[in-house]
Amino acid sequence: MKSWETEKQLSNHARVLRYIFRNQPVSRSEIGEDLSLPRSMVTGITTTLVDQGIVRELGKAETAEDGALGRRRLLIGICPEARYAVGVEIALRHFRFCLTDLAGNVIDRLCYAPDAEQIAQVNRAICDGVHQLLARNPGPAEQVIGVGVALPGHLNLQSGGMVSHSTLWSGFNAHALAQALDCRVTAENNVRSMAYERYLFDIESCPENFAFLHVGPGIVCADFKGGVLNSGGYISGEIGHTISNPDGQRCECGKTGCLQTYASESWILKKARLIHASAPRSALRSLAADPGDITLDTVLTAYKLGDELVIREIRDAVRYLAIAAANLAIIMGTEKLYLHSRMFQNSILKDELKASIESQLTFVDKKGSENVEILEFQPERAAIGAAALAIDRLFIGK
Ligand SMILES: [Zn+2]
Repeated sequence: MKSWETEKQLSNHARVLRYIFRNQPVSRSEIGEDLSLPRSMVTGITTTLVDQGIVRELGKAETAEDGALGRRRLLIGICPEARYAVGVEIALRHFRFCLTDLAGNVIDRLCYAPDAEQIAQVNRAICDGVHQLLARNPGPAEQVIGVGVALPGHLNLQSGGMVSHSTLWSGFNAHALAQALDCRVTAENNVRSMAYERYLFDIESCPENFAFLHVGPGIVCADFKGGVLNSGGYISGEIGHTISNPDGQRCECGKTGCLQTYASESWILKKARLIHASAPRSALRSLAADPGDITLDTVLTAYKLGDELVIREIRDAVRYLAIAAANLAIIMGTEKLYLHSRMFQNSILKDELKASIESQLTFVDKKGSENVEILEFQPERAAIGAAALAIDRLFIGK
């Protein structure tokens, strides 16, 4: 009985803390009403949080609870410098480390392109990076709540290892990492980590129900329902491997005509290299001496220069991605769909994509279109999201 009560106390504590994170500045009475908790319990929990320096009083609200008369509400919010988290992103092209406060402000960062040895010994590389970051910031290091890791795959909760198409990550293990670092560690898929970055660090505009679609070398979607990440199985959110065209090309997953083969960065590059090799008059020839030198920027420049084959390739990418995104928005019924992609920083493509998605969402009423937001591409989003993940799982929900 006693342990059950302790458990319940902890979970109400976590609920109140999470509510303050998401709704600050907020009054104690609002917390009690929205979470259906007795006023005395909310007062007890918030008093403890204020005593611990985690929550602070922000002053009185402009209006009283009834909008005009009565006592003005005393507002509280999270003290950003009370604790810190380390977010790590591991990917073939870069290892990123961010030290953030509770509001997601990046205090310090570290980034490098790993060599084969660092990828093979990824746990050791993560330990080194985390130690380096903390050694440079001795003050925050004393208040670090743990480490979050964003993965280019999925976490196997039992073994602590990574489930991935690639065999290169067999050196990763979250359990062993926690032991080696002697601190708490949590890990999650990189796109799901990006969704956490929205949920915890963009409280102004991120709703409780939303989807986050990331287009990079692969295309993955993460979603939150009622403030809870949909963790699903290993194929959940793998939107890149839904079929766009059954008569299309064979995808690396074995199926034919996946969205991946039209809209992923890896396939856009692959097709651009083929154009370079087979079309002597392509603008790509003047932009890159060798097909291997072609980057996404090269492709976008060729698009701007009017290269017909590249334009066709990019148009297909926009078209199929817009169809998939609109289908997602309709099926999931989310309040907001975020899109994150390096490619769609190009303003012409961004406008085309947004218009194409919106035109598919206004068949019932005109409002559907307001819910699509193409985010500014932020290379650190997964690492910062991993810090948000650590805060949510290791601090709020501890
Ligand atoms: Zn596929």
